[in-house]
Amino acid sequence: MCLRHSHSRTGAHCYGDGHGDVAVTQNESGNNNDHVRRHNLSAVLGLAHRTGGLSRAQLTKVTGLNRSTVADLVGELVERQLVVEVGPDSSGHVGRPSPIVRPNPRAVALAVNPEVDAVTVGVVGLGGTVLKRVRCPTPQRTRAKEAVTICAAVIEAMRADLDTRYRTVGIGVAVPGLVREHDGLVRLAPHLGWVDEPLAQMLTDATGYPVVAANDASLGALAESTFGSGRDVTDLIYLNGGASGIGGGVIAGGVSLAGIAGYAGEFGHTLVNSIGVLCDCGAVGCLETEVARAPLLKLVGLSDADGDELERKLTASRSPAVQTEVERQLDFLAVAFRNAINIFNPQLIILGGFLGSLYAVAPAYLDQKLAQRPLLAAQETVTISRTELTSDLLMIGAAELAFESLLSDPASSRLTPPPG
Ligand SMILES: [Zn+2]
Repeated sequence: MCLRHSHSRTGAHCYGDGHGDVAVTQNESGNNNDHVRRHNLSAVLGLAHRTGGLSRAQLTKVTGLNRSTVADLVGELVERQLVVEVGPDSSGHVGRPSPIVRPNPRAVALAVNPEVDAVTVGVVGLGGTVLKRVRCPTPQRTRAKEAVTICAAVIEAMRADLDTRYRTVGIGVAVPGLVREHDGLVRLAPHLGWVDEPLAQMLTDATGYPVVAANDASLGALAESTFGSGRDVTDLIYLNGGASGIGGGVIAGGVSLAGIAGYAGEFGHTLVNSIGVLCDCGAVGCLETEVARAPLLKLVGLSDADGDELERKLTASRSPAVQTEVERQLDFLAVAFRNAINIFNPQLIILGGFLGSLYAVAPAYLDQKLAQRPLLAAQETVTISRTELTSDLLMIGAAELAFESLLSDPASSRLTPPPG
């Protein structure tokens, strides 16, 4: 998994609790001034982005900067068309009303998610608002080159809109596979059949935009931690159950764990059953060989993969066979959780896709399984929840990746077209 992104560097999850390293004070001088100003711009933009909007008074309080400095920073961000100031805050506070500083939704990133059945392209505004989403169904085993052609055509069709109504930072891609961090090369996307495809470069060549790519589950973790159920949580694990297996992402200390090349977080291929069956990856007893959607669909008589329908049927079923299978899968999920909890000591485990449904069918069963491990001190503090962002999750995650450089240094980031 593949993110250089650090929320904590720009203050996420830290502000408001008295110990956040949100902003450097304005008492620096000399050569440090530019560095400090850039850092503070990043802090203010990051706060507006993640919260959806704060008054100048709140920004002053949270950053610890003085009012005139905040006014100055907000002025620069307005000038760069990255934030807008709206209405005075008339929430009844004493003193002069303070305008609300919101992320400018016309500063956008393009989000791309190639999947086995479709290529989806979205336009996502700063602040994580999905403004547009176009899903192009594709035949099975669509090649990378064809997926790029489809993306380029969708983006070309949006081009007039993008050039007149928006300013675009670039493209973020959520890939169901292993992505090399530094150049966005897809090393392996098994269900797409892609091996060593220079996806980011191909998309740049086809569209002219800068492109960054990462594993879909890592981006799901990033999106949930920024805007979803993981807001204000510094340590979380996100696990997604899809048609093709189980993916995951880890945020530790507010930072996405990537590993040395970007491949960390493959919970689906961790060992849960040493006398289990052979996995596609060549190992035996991987989590995704035991915890899988297909047997659940089969048991409730569904051939289609509609997640809501699966959950409804699982929940409504009184069949002992369904209950046995659900509990069998939860037993193995508990093994994976136990390992993850002991290794990462997370505050939150977020479940997406069919894993969320599996948990929803028998939450007490899983909670009890975890509670049976008396030596597990780390388990005392962990909560299990489901994704909040659902169908927008990967669009927001991919966009977040594309916004990364803008958020970390608003003063040097280039958007297309430049401010007029
Ligand atoms: Zn495996």
